[in-house]
Amino acid sequence: MDNTSSTLVITGGGLVGMAAALMFHNRFDSVRVCEKRSNPLSDSNYSNRSLQLVISARGWRTLDLLGLTDKVKARTLQLKGRYKHETDGSEHPEPYSRDGQVICCVSRETLYKLLTAEVLNLDNTTVHFDTEVTGVDTDNCTYFTDREDTPAAESYDFMIGSDGVYSIVSRQLNGESGINRVLETNSYREIRINHAPWAADGFHYWYSDRMMIGSFPVFEGGFSLFMVLERADIPLILEDPESDYLETRFPEIVGLIPDARERFLEAADGVLGSVTCEQWHAGNHTVILGDAAHGILPFMGQGLNTGLEDLYVLNDFLSEDGLKSGSSLSEFAALRRPQADAIRDISMEQFRYLTGKMSNEERLVRKEVDRHLELNNQPGVYASCAFTTEPFSDISRRFRQLADKYKMQE
Ligand SMILES: Cc1cc2nc3c(=O)[nH]c(=O)nc-3n(C[C@H](O)[C@H](O)[C@H](O)COP(=O)(O)OP(=O)(O)OC[C@H]3O[C@@H](n4cnc5c(N)ncnc54)[C@H](O)[C@@H]3O)c2cc1C
Repeated sequence: MDNTSSTLVITGGGLVGMAAALMFHNRFDSVRVCEKRSNPLSDSNYSNRSLQLVISARGWRTLDLLGLTDKVKARTLQLKGRYKHETDGSEHPEPYSRDGQVICCVSRETLYKLLTAEVLNLDNTTVHFDTEVTGVDTDNCTYFTDREDTPAAESYDFMIGSDGVYSIVSRQLNGESGINRVLETNSYREIRINHAPWAADGFHYWYSDRMMIGSFPVFEGGFSLFMVLERADIPLILEDPESDYLETRFPEIVGLIPDARERFLEAADGVLGSVTCEQWHAGNHTVILGDAAHGILPFMGQGLNTGLEDLYVLNDFLSEDGLKSGSSLSEFAALRRPQADAIRDISMEQFRYLTGKMSNEERLVRKEVDRHLELNNQPGVYASCAFTTEPFSDISRRFRQLADKYKMQE
């Protein structure tokens, strides 16, 4: 890298891209962030799906490095556990940890606006909103955008591709054949209510044989609800005006939100899936991070936290003027890929558990594992992921070994 005038280009100024600019801006002479959407601070129509995000130990570790912990914490709600709601109206608390640890929940929009405002204050950083990166030539360290007022190709010294699950940088590194997308057949839909019918110190959930509804309290007021159901069930459960499925299986929800069916039907149909990439970097100058490298199912609340952990780890590889001499991006990728794979698998297992896709045998084994952990006063898999920074691969190995032990006893 030419140390006299170095440019960091960040493709995709979402949550991870903005955090990357804050983390690395002082290692380069100039930083350019290209974000295809508009500036959330000046766009009055700005809104985003997945209203609530849970920040756990890994996320806080990175936010600490950025000096943002207090600012973010001031906008979060503390959740001490889940509340499972039954059809008969009863409610069962399920603490996240045995020693009362809490996770924090923040609105995605609030966090994104906060990070964006911080980045816009940096002297050497320019954010090009409404700018889509349309191509990257990693051999020549150049990239192309859809802006008409810039040269056809611009150069970079170091590029971070944080452009999400359909990343153009990842496509350049991997081709379509090097990217494995596993898309679920479930639909994910969100609605927001302004009243607060449930305790605001926990995540609430309901489930039936065919679907689940979850609800997070919102710091700014009210609750955010999501529904996960098989796409094939939408005509029967949501579209058919004669259907009484929600009334009979989720009476509490319909009692509190009489137009729940219509609102969930109108809500955007989100796709759930995981993305795995073989190649995370080109040479020592282009790297993908966050969802661009590892999209995972959201049921452990670890997608963003894992992206923030990528930054925490990459920080050790970058010196004042670029990549530290003697270190390489292949070393970085070799550290991060097993972690991404492990949390992808853990999240997939949680998804299968919550949506009734596990066999009876798998459920029994899981019950036995939970009982063993409780008897031995050890944290469960969720608590291990949320409250510690233990590598996901170690957590996964521990739980697999335990599950194998109980499987053999079946
Ligand atoms: C329903 C749901 C709930 C979730 N809950 C949690 C949670 O509780 N905790 C948690 O840790 N994670 C959670 N996640 C995961 C989390 O949202 C993602 O991991 C996180 O948003 C990834 O950030 P990112 O910046 O890598 O990608 P993104 O947020 O997808 O940002 C990518 C950005 O790149 C831009 N972009 C894309 N292509 C281009 C291009 N060619 N040129 C320029 N810009 C481009 C996009 O406009 C976007 O702004 C959840 C996800 C979902 C779907």
